[in-house]
Parts: sequence; C-alpha cells; structure tokens
Amino acid sequence: MSMVPESHPRYKSLLNRGKVVDAFESGVLAKGGLIAHGRGETYDYLIGETTPKVAKEAIKASAAMLMLAKNPVISVNGNSIALAKDELIDLAAELNGKIEVNLFYRTEEREQKIKELFEKNESNNENYKNNKITILGIDDANKQMPNVDHLRGKVSEAGIYTADVVLVPLEDGDRAEALIEMGKKVIAIDLNPLSRTAQKSTITIVDELTRCIPLITKEIITLKQQNLSNEELNQITEFDNNKALKEVLKLISDKLTTQ
Ligand code: ATP
Ligand code: MG
Repeated sequence: MSMVPESHPRYKSLLNRGKVVDAFESGVLAKGGLIAHGRGETYDYLIGETTPKVAKEAIKASAAMLMLAKNPVISVNGNSIALAKDELIDLAAELNGKIEVNLFYRTEEREQKIKELFEKNESNNENYKNNKITILGIDDANKQMPNVDHLRGKVSEAGIYTADVVLVPLEDGDRAEALIEMGKKVIAIDLNPLSRTAQKSTITIVDELTRCIPLITKEIITLKQQNLSNEELNQITEFDNNKALKEVLKLISDKLTTQ
C-alpha cells in the first residue's frame, strides 16, 4: 500500500482493499469476506462514494437510538475489524463499551487471532487503555440465538443475547432477521439497499463502513452536548426505513440514467 500515492483517485478504495487482503492473510478474515467486500465496493460506486443525505438522516436516528439503549452492543465480524477496528472502539467508548465478535465462519483460530489483534493494539487506543471497552463473544459465547445455525448463532449473554439495540455492520440477512425476531432493534450498515439485512433492519445506514462509523460517533457527541430529554431523543429515532431505502434506490437509478 505504501506504493499508492495519497493523490491517487482510488486511494481510499485501494487502502481498504489492502486492509481486507492483510486481514485475510493474517487469518482474521475468511475468503468469503473478500467477496463480500467486492459486493460492497460495487454499491459504493453506485451511490457515488459519498455518504448520501438519507444516510446522514439514518446516522442521526441511529445515534439517538444507541444513546437511548439500555444495553447497546456493536457486533463485529472479520470485515468490520479489518476495516475499522479503532473507529469501532471509539464509537463503543461513547456508549457502554461493548463490542461483540460474531463471525460468519467461526473457528477457534480466527477467534484467537481477533482477540490478539484487539489486545495488541491496546496501547494505541486511549479508550482501550482506559478500560472503556469490553470484547465479548469469544470466551463467553455460551448462549444460542434461535433460528440461526449452531456456530453462527453463538452469542454472549452480557452482549447480543440481552442487548436491546444491536449495531450490525455488514451483517448477514438471516442473522439480522433472527435478531429482529428476538425483539431487538437492529441498526445495519450495508451498502446494498436490496440485501435482506437492509430490508429487515430497524434502521439501515446505506453507507460505507469506514466513512460512516466516525459520523455516528460525531453525532452522538453532538447530541450529548445538546442535553436532550429522552422524549426529544425518541423523536429523533423516528425513521421510515422502507422510504429511506427507496430513496437510495432512486438515487442509484437517477445516477444510472443520467450518465
Ligand atoms: P444478505 O444476506 O443481507 O441478503 P448478502 O448475502 O448480499 O446480504 P453478505 O455477504 O451477507 O451480503 O454481507 C455483506 C454485505 O456487506 C453486502 O451487502 C455488502 O454490500 C456489504 N458491504 C461490504 N463491504 C462493505 C463496507 N465496506 N461498508 C458497508 N457495507 C459493506
Ligand atoms: Mg448473506
């Protein structure tokens, strides 16, 4: 990656590719994660590689929903760790600090690699150093989500199992659906407005992960400074997800027909 100059028009995209390739080579990311990344890149092209206005609204509603949650949990997988581990730690530190590792291809080896990755970076992140963060889902994944196969449905009791709001960057559709069926509010980050995850979630932020995580954190900090009542925050959580997804599809179709 050091070969790519920052002025390169595809710098950010190449940087992200480099991160997922490195994660694959170090055993953090499964092969399927590389393919999922490619699907995401396609949709990022189609939305213009910027955060759409409707995603900014989804981010604001999500920030308020996370602030109101009693037990919010950020679910992470190989892709999200590869792309935005530190940014996710910064976001968790504004909440209750809970990050849960929830892998599509769960192997003990991958779990240990991920654990090491979080531990290794301990010294680099202030939030981690100050013990603000708890990594769940590795040593304590002893509860089972209903309607999800055994390994993919293993969750932590203190984390996803009892969470009221779960933030799921790049989640698979059937697990997002199972979380909804468990009565949770699900905030998804997914570039594909047509995916089952996007369609099933309570709020879908159609934006690229590394672009939008810092925006959610910033929004939470802004809302905290405003000292809003729970009622005011509740109003901000009001969000019509179907309408928002239609708006993204319109944005994409307008882009395709006017090129
Ligand atoms: P579903 O199971 O929800 O129908 P899927 O099977 O198409 O979705 P998965 O492979 O399960 O997709 O999950 C990957 C999803 O993550 C894709 O929808 C892809 O668009 C999205 N994605 C990949 N990379 C990013 C990224 N960097 N930021 C946001 N979304 C991404
Ligand atoms: Mg899927």
